[in-house]
Amino acid sequence: MSHVRKMAVIGAGTMGSGIALVAASRGIEVALVDVSNEQLERASGYHAKTMDRNVQKERMTREEADSALARITCVTDMADASDADWVVEAATENSDLKKKIFVRMFETFGPDVVLATNTSSISITELAEAVPGASDRVIGMHFFNPVPVMKLVEVIKGRDTSEETTHRTIELSESMGKIPVPANDFAGFVSNRVLMPMINEAFHAWADGVAEPENIDSIMTLGCAFPMGPLRLADHIGLDVCRDIMLVMHRGLGDDKYLPAPKLVELVDLGRLGNKTGHGVYDHT
Ligand code: NAD
Repeated sequence: MSHVRKMAVIGAGTMGSGIALVAASRGIEVALVDVSNEQLERASGYHAKTMDRNVQKERMTREEADSALARITCVTDMADASDADWVVEAATENSDLKKKIFVRMFETFGPDVVLATNTSSISITELAEAVPGASDRVIGMHFFNPVPVMKLVEVIKGRDTSEETTHRTIELSESMGKIPVPANDFAGFVSNRVLMPMINEAFHAWADGVAEPENIDSIMTLGCAFPMGPLRLADHIGLDVCRDIMLVMHRGLGDDKYLPAPKLVELVDLGRLGNKTGHGVYDHT
């Protein structure tokens, strides 16, 4: 059992819905907050379906599944989650939006509440600057997709993050069944600094005609022992998310090698965002 009684999760997309489910499965009350009712409904559907599968596969009893589901409340107004004692922001990867959300989080939650962010690439110090009175409580708590399956939480301290905040984040990650690993506060941290340029390069290779997507992915899975090829992984992550992470690294690290590949940008502009829209590099319909 965690020391955290109730967690607010801001954003009910791919990541927020997964974080909410894992927390609830570990006995934590969850308020899942999103501006979009449709996203909240989609998250509830995903929660019910995942728990049905867990019961079918005998990973848990029906009672355990039902009581985990009953711990999750969906709300559209952050004020309705204000009694939470932990908050994880998992909204769209856009620093202006996240800064506004951080100001709202600072105003909404109590003075001891850790303000964690699941950002994939944005500097923790930069986000903390939006809430100067609470910068010691701001930390990166970077889960991986799909959250119920992936063990890692990349823990990123900003310039002012306190030891206590870090310690509590490690403790909470472990109590959620995860393995926390520290990284320093550079755009993209470790995971995306290494992964995203590889995905981006796969788009360049495709555009240059080096190979078709299926063959690029087969070469990387069969030849480099990757569990999933880079282009299929990009569809899974979301092509818009991949583009945005490249842009954040381009801005934060100041090197043109981080510019998103034109082919990646083209697909995003066409609305082909990957699994979530049914079409990205591949057709998922
Ligand atoms: P997503 O697009 O699936 O979901 C984002 C959600 O945020 C949407 O439901 C949107 O309605 C909501 N939102 C937007 N503005 C909001 C606001 N003001 N208040 C509340 N909710 C708001 O995105 P995602 O893939 O879940 O990514 C969320 C965060 O997690 C991003 O920072 C991303 O970089 C990070 N991340 C993503 C992955 C991944 O594989 N997709 C992995 C690790 C981390």
